[in-house]
Amino acid sequence: MTTKTFTKTRFAPSPTGLLHLGNARTALFSALLARRDEGVFLLRIEDTDQERSKVEYTEAVEEDLCWLGLDWQEGPHAGGMHGPYLQSERGAVYRNYFDILEQEGRAYLCFCSDRELDLARKTQLAAGQPPRYPGTCARLSPDEVVARLQRGLQPTLRFRVPPGQVVEFDDLVRGPQRFASADIGDFIVRRADGTPAFFFSNAIDDALMGVTHVLRGEDHLTNTPRQILLLDALGLRVPRYGHISMILGPDGAPLSKRHGSRSIRELRETGYLPGAVNNYMARLGHYYENNAYLDLPGLAAEFDIANLGRAPAHYDTTHLLHWQREAIAQAHADELWRWMGAEVRALVPADAAADFVAAVRANVTFPEHALDWARIIYSDPLALGHPARQVITEAGSAFFEHALTGLARHSTNFKELLGHLKNETGAKGKALFHPLRAALTGELDGPEMASLMALLSPERARRRLQACLEIANCK
Ligand code: GLU
Repeated sequence: MTTKTFTKTRFAPSPTGLLHLGNARTALFSALLARRDEGVFLLRIEDTDQERSKVEYTEAVEEDLCWLGLDWQEGPHAGGMHGPYLQSERGAVYRNYFDILEQEGRAYLCFCSDRELDLARKTQLAAGQPPRYPGTCARLSPDEVVARLQRGLQPTLRFRVPPGQVVEFDDLVRGPQRFASADIGDFIVRRADGTPAFFFSNAIDDALMGVTHVLRGEDHLTNTPRQILLLDALGLRVPRYGHISMILGPDGAPLSKRHGSRSIRELRETGYLPGAVNNYMARLGHYYENNAYLDLPGLAAEFDIANLGRAPAHYDTTHLLHWQREAIAQAHADELWRWMGAEVRALVPADAAADFVAAVRANVTFPEHALDWARIIYSDPLALGHPARQVITEAGSAFFEHALTGLARHSTNFKELLGHLKNETGAKGKALFHPLRAALTGELDGPEMASLMALLSPERARRRLQACLEIANCK
């Protein structure tokens, strides 16, 4: 009998800013992997940097994840057996492991000042060596340590990297990795103010929280050997790591604001649908054979670590817009109705909501477009641009006289009105459709006329045709 191994993934943001595409994509991949394996997706807030971490960013990250539908089964609000899930509340846990490292001689107090460290770094660089902690405090005698403490110096705690070892791991994305411990300088695990360094709390928590798969940005790749050494030293279980390639802007530089990359919050406020953002991100550095729009269970079912690319992914707004249109095509009418916003709801009568959504769905990409159509159908005056005026003038007054008679007879039944006009004017094709569309909507293209006309009040249609008759007469 084969037993399925349990999968626990996590997202571990530092709440120092709003969630951007890059981090949100890491969260998405982690959530998809857990969902596919019927495992657990955990959220941990890495707020150890007291100066830069802000509660409002933690709340914003949680809100954005919920909006994307990436809910976590373990973490803040969800609870779980391995809490607390805010690192700022885990001081006692970290102290315990600092003590173990210190007692076992796996870490030592370091009194070097920033100036001394900087000098050592510069000297090494000048000698063409990689900058690495020179080990100044590694061999201090107990008396020397006491003397320094008595002088009131605030030490950091440094992990003593074992010499002559090779750290190997099989990266889930990038394959086998090897790092010589000789290339890794002793690194800080506790800062002088007593707070844990990223390497430490991040690794300890993944192990203690039972995380099995860590997916994160490739900028963390070189942190991994340090974290493995630490976990090995403490006898804690090492998760599998997968480092995801970065996202580049069209100019090849790492994605940033100047490429138009916006935070998830901004995308939401612009009117992007969560499904659009998810379908876009899921294909940014991950290959899906299926090009159709997928909901989260669908994205999860077809997610495969083997399809994560090693090459950088490229940000492209046209793809994002493509998925936006797909998401709109798939969305429930109720969802779209809410999405269209308060101004649309104020214009469109509630009993016409479903028909309005059905009529304009294929022609809107953002709520502002729905508002344009709501104004066209439900408010006056109608703005007639130059192209519409030209079509109206070219159609001539007879066309609109017949249109008015047709309207009086068939009301806003488009098919019958069109039949009437065809018989009376002999016009067909574009010459038949265009003037009517221009007269009633002020546009030369847009949603199907039959569904638009069904929403338009006969009186408003009459006034618009009458106005066009006058325009055509004034030619
Ligand atoms: N807090 C870290 C970050 O936001 C987490 C890195 C990781 O996923 O291990 O970069």
